[in-house]
Amino acid sequence: MELRFSSLSDLRRALDCGMVSVEELAQDYLRALQEDTLGAGLSVIPELTLAQAREAQRRLEKTSPEQRSPLLGLPVIHKDVLVTKGWPTTAGSRILEDYQSPFNAHAVEQLQAAGMVCLGKANCDEFAMGSSNEHSAYQPAHNPWDSERISGGSSGGSAVAVAAGLAPAATGTDTGGSIRQPASMCGITGIKPTYGRVSRWGLIAYASILDQAGPMARTAKDCALLLSAMAGFDPKDSTSLDRTPEDFTRLLGRPMTDLASVEQPLKGLRLGMPKQYFSNQISPAVAHAIEAGLEVLRGLGAETLMVDLPRTDLSLPAYYVIAPAEASSNLSRFDGVRYGHRSNNATDLESLYCLSRSEAFGPEVRRRILLGSYVLSHGYYDAYYLQAQKVRRLVAMDFDRAFEGCDFLVGPVSPVTAWRLGEGPALEAAKDNPLLAEYLSDVFTLGASLAGLPAMSMPCGFEQHQAGPRLPIGLQLIGPRFEEARMLALAHHFQMATDFHEQTPSPRAQGVQP
Ligand code: GLN
Repeated sequence: MELRFSSLSDLRRALDCGMVSVEELAQDYLRALQEDTLGAGLSVIPELTLAQAREAQRRLEKTSPEQRSPLLGLPVIHKDVLVTKGWPTTAGSRILEDYQSPFNAHAVEQLQAAGMVCLGKANCDEFAMGSSNEHSAYQPAHNPWDSERISGGSSGGSAVAVAAGLAPAATGTDTGGSIRQPASMCGITGIKPTYGRVSRWGLIAYASILDQAGPMARTAKDCALLLSAMAGFDPKDSTSLDRTPEDFTRLLGRPMTDLASVEQPLKGLRLGMPKQYFSNQISPAVAHAIEAGLEVLRGLGAETLMVDLPRTDLSLPAYYVIAPAEASSNLSRFDGVRYGHRSNNATDLESLYCLSRSEAFGPEVRRRILLGSYVLSHGYYDAYYLQAQKVRRLVAMDFDRAFEGCDFLVGPVSPVTAWRLGEGPALEAAKDNPLLAEYLSDVFTLGASLAGLPAMSMPCGFEQHQAGPRLPIGLQLIGPRFEEARMLALAHHFQMATDFHEQTPSPRAQGVQP
């Protein structure tokens, strides 16, 4: 039980000193995943996992601890939009039920090469469309802090697996917030890297110009270890960045500026608070936790100042034009002909396409395809899609300007904590429309996505419901392009000074009778 909630570095030590074998460790998590009632996993195939574990154990025995990759023998669960050889990849959709990829996604391959053991596939919103994991065609993922609430999404299963101790690490993808928002709602750490850092090869495409894979884990340090293995140039992705490989752990624990000291490692660091992120849109509990988190950062020597991101509100309509437009094009490959669900009721080619797609795509995906096709159609393309791309440029310029006066931006990830399943977030602007409210709740994560910037969520507090469970709240950091190493170092300093990331949900909150 203890080991299951350990960080990757602690598990590394347990493996290195022989306290546990790679296989035993994998068994432990497999058992937890098989007993899970929160809906974190979509496919778990113990034989495949154990074969990888035995292989890692052999590598471990052939090397000394100093020679080992820091991830050798450690388990990871992959979001079901990263294709995996052996395990089915469904993207949370019926249209890909039982689909088996003949190859691994680049990120999966990189983690496997580093010696990680795949535990299986994690639940997610269908084709990563959503912020609640309720749009999974299979089942919602339940929040381990209160099983009657959403996990956040779309990488909900990944976040739940880490938060509930079903996996020490997970991969996620983030197109408009899908790593950061579930990380925030489940009380874990997750980072969306700069666009192009991690290859998109083998990610089932949602909105290709925004899609980025990244790590989700208990700590910033663990995320740094994982990202170091996941990132890197890949000629198979035309937008992959050709940069020298980086060790993202290299700045952890170091003073962040020339003015910094041991007591004040953040002295000289300027953190911008976008005034639009501190508006009355955020719930009092979130506002309170963010302010408390900022107080910790100030105590470590950082200076906070207000900055302006004037186009924040416009990122919503721009994103919800661009993302569905790209999706409508990307999802046209699911035609029932080559792979995936094929209708049995078709009478000709036309009805084969129509029936296969309408039988197997869920309502949210169908809505996005309709919307996307509309904004790309003749006569509307200029008015919507092109216009949205221009707004995207303006949003990116806002960030460039803000970074002229500060090192990083800080603010909430989500205006609210995890909402009750089926209810949607309580947002004044969309009171009787839970689906619209779900879109609106993305307001603080979309900007960094549109601008291609690295951004992360780290736990900074809880909302305490009267006599009920506590709900985690995440603090968002947004950095300039390629500043992941410094951003993770900043988060690490925060985590050295706080213990929010070490808290674990009680079995009762998870719906388990203790
Ligand atoms: N909630 C956003 C959407 O539904 C973002 C999803 C994501 O990042 N994959 O599009």
